[in-house]
Amino acid sequence: MLTSEYRVKIRPLYITQDTLALLSGEARRELNQECCGLLAGRDGVITHVFPADNVAADPSKNYEMAPKEIVRLMREFRAAGLTFLGIYHSHPNGENAPSARDIERAYYSEEAYFIISPQSDAPKPVRAFSIRDGLSTELEIQIV
Ligand SMILES: [Zn+2]
Repeated sequence: MLTSEYRVKIRPLYITQDTLALLSGEARRELNQECCGLLAGRDGVITHVFPADNVAADPSKNYEMAPKEIVRLMREFRAAGLTFLGIYHSHPNGENAPSARDIERAYYSEEAYFIISPQSDAPKPVRAFSIRDGLSTELEIQIV
């Protein structure tokens, strides 16, 4: 891809309080493995969580969604009139910042990567990042 084609979309992310609560709940549902899924909404506001199966070889350390399931979920939310706005996964242990592998395997440069911590003492249990060209930038999350 040519550099001139890159469009920088560093802007605050909008998410509803209910969706944020749902995300935290997803991370706490399975404390010994990473949860993952897609986020969708309308008019730039994330309103829906679409959980996916974590099919990584070691789901306690990584996450991976089956391409077939991604296609199925995207079809599902498009049929509901929703737009694809982000990808989420949890880090059951350690900091909820992108790992080297998260950065290496960030295929969606236009969408936000949410990383959730189920730990009650996490300073920011839900964080979001833009990951492109091997670099991650934290995005501001605004609750609407
Ligand atoms: Zn990760």
